[in-house]
Amino acid sequence: MQGRADLPLDVRRRFLTGRVSLDFSHTGGDGDWAVWEILHTPADLSHWLGVILSVDGLSAGGPDLAAARPVRMAIAVGARSLAAGRSVSASDVAVLNAAAAAPPLVPQLTPSGMGVSFEAPTAAAALSTLARDAIDLFSGPWAGRIRVCAAADCGLLLVDTSRPGQRRWCSMQRCGNLAKVRGHRRRAT
Ligand SMILES: [Zn+2]
Repeated sequence: MQGRADLPLDVRRRFLTGRVSLDFSHTGGDGDWAVWEILHTPADLSHWLGVILSVDGLSAGGPDLAAARPVRMAIAVGARSLAAGRSVSASDVAVLNAAAAAPPLVPQLTPSGMGVSFEAPTAAAALSTLARDAIDLFSGPWAGRIRVCAAADCGLLLVDTSRPGQRRWCSMQRCGNLAKVRGHRRRAT
């Protein structure tokens, strides 16, 4: 299984939100977000669910891919509504609740007692786990800390869990650094 740490920065920065549901919303989408699409086939869905949820041996089919898209959009649109100070729409609530109603992934300690594995993980269970994470996030204390990265050319989501609540960038290495460089340039001219 590929881990987040193994990904090149331009891909890894999609998965630094701190929440698996928001990370999943960064795998693409409809309309303007189609340029981000990395879930083209069921195999892509298996792969990226594995990376995001740290699950080995997950295999998804065509119907799973069709089921994943509306869940992903409900998470993305819901999170962006909250980031803009609005509430989550009734239709997005319904999609998330339906996905969460399925049994989620069940973690099991490995025999050594130090690792986690999942018994026969399915894509439906993975979507349930993601929907439950979104429900927890949207209804909990961090809902007001969901932000869109401040870089004009970015648009990725993040949850600001910093104590002062001043996190602005999806990734310090990417958008934070670019902003710093631009600031230096501005001051130098
Ligand atoms: Zn960014």
